[in-house]
Amino acid sequence: MNHKDALKDPVFKTLNEVSESMGLSSFVIGGFTRDYLLSKENPKDIDIVVIGNGIEYAQEVSRALKGSSEISVFKNYGTAMIKYKDLILEFVGARKESYSEDSRNPKVASGSLEDDQNRRDFTINALALSLNTEDFGDLVDPFNGMGDLENKCIKTPLDPDITYSDDPLRMMRAIRFATQLDFKIEKDSLNAIERNKERISIVSNERIVDELNKIILAPKPSLGFKLLHKTGLLHYILPELIALEGIEEIEGQRHKDNFWHTLEVVDNISKNTDNLWLRWAALLHDIGKAPTKRFDKTIGWTFHGHEFIGSKMVYKLFKRLHLPLNEKMKYVKKIVSMSSRPIVIAEDFVTDSAVRRLIFDAGEDIEDLMTLCEADITTKNPKKQRRYKNNFKIVRQKIVEVEQRDHIRNFQPPISGEEIIKLFNLQPSKEVGIIKEAIKEAILEGEIPNEYESALEFTIKKGESMGLKASNI
Ligand code: ATP
Ligand code: MG
Repeated sequence: MNHKDALKDPVFKTLNEVSESMGLSSFVIGGFTRDYLLSKENPKDIDIVVIGNGIEYAQEVSRALKGSSEISVFKNYGTAMIKYKDLILEFVGARKESYSEDSRNPKVASGSLEDDQNRRDFTINALALSLNTEDFGDLVDPFNGMGDLENKCIKTPLDPDITYSDDPLRMMRAIRFATQLDFKIEKDSLNAIERNKERISIVSNERIVDELNKIILAPKPSLGFKLLHKTGLLHYILPELIALEGIEEIEGQRHKDNFWHTLEVVDNISKNTDNLWLRWAALLHDIGKAPTKRFDKTIGWTFHGHEFIGSKMVYKLFKRLHLPLNEKMKYVKKIVSMSSRPIVIAEDFVTDSAVRRLIFDAGEDIEDLMTLCEADITTKNPKKQRRYKNNFKIVRQKIVEVEQRDHIRNFQPPISGEEIIKLFNLQPSKEVGIIKEAIKEAILEGEIPNEYESALEFTIKKGESMGLKASNI
């Protein structure tokens, strides 16, 4: 089959001319070819394999593109990258690889196109398009990758046990591609992942997380988590989720399976947000339920304080996986720690003061928190489903109303500590803090509006009740 259409951009003509002038063959391979054949769009990331020296070829290409490109050379890896317009071209010399037991970094020797295709992870990633004059645009597909694209199948070119054992990151990649593309993993391959799952331990956390993030950002992340669960990889990566699996029954009382519930919540939220960290928060929002689960004879199953315990677990989990320990982590912690707050409000009559407190505590993240709580509704009971959704609608309306009136979102105390000090002729002291707290409480409770005059009046009264006399008014 010929696919000249994929190679319409003039840059491919340049690649062709350079390889001809150097007497080399070159091919477009990997993600570009796969995604083009799937969608008929022309992806912007272009992987090029050269039968020969990839770096020298890239340097010639860069010269031919005359200063309008930017080249980076990675000598250790024998690769080079060129940024040109909105394209990223990655060059590698065709290679044979041999692996050792303890590392996923192979010994590399130069090889033929066939050798290079053999070392690729999946048949759909080994599809190559010729850049050579005699067969420009012809597909080179030794493993029937085209058939696997049509059948939506992830399959390794060689024995899957060897492919996964050599580089265990490929297990994560298999699951990631299956999730992104909504493909099945071929049965032999899936069994091989299960057999080789322990080998994931030689892969760095950063690489695992790269793949995990792509799974989480897919349209339906549960596809990936189900595969991670089925193959046993999830035990190694996120044991906190595995601990949520299962339903216990005591005295006829059962709780829900919080693992499968979590996957539903993540799918739900993914329909409403592409924010990676909010999706992470959804994934982790119930992890505190495993260590806090208790059975109480009178009230049944309880998970008291699971939000707090869960938010503490977020830090440890982020640290272990080498996820960023910056404001992203703090955001996830905060959302997890507040994940039941809107539900508690919505279960009851929705009061203004409860909403004010919610806005005060959530601040800028109030919308995201509401998005999580709405995704958290997984009950199959249509009546309950309707009631919860309706209650959240009321909470959302109240948030808008209360915020318009009281400006709580970026709360600044209407009376500052310094003013309190001046007003009562105080030294900086405990009293100042007590009065400030009392003002904030009065506003949140709705006893006074969030404005200067009322707050001043309140402050004077509060001070008097503490035996302080206002001067300097
Ligand atoms: P995407 O860029 O959408 O993640 P991709 O297929 O381009 O998909 P890359 O990680 O950019 O993936 O890798 C480019 C190509 O290199 C792949 O298509 C595959 O042929 C090969 N490849 C990448 N990583 C591996 C690996 N661990 N083992 C074998 N081949 C790999
Ligand atoms: Mg790519």
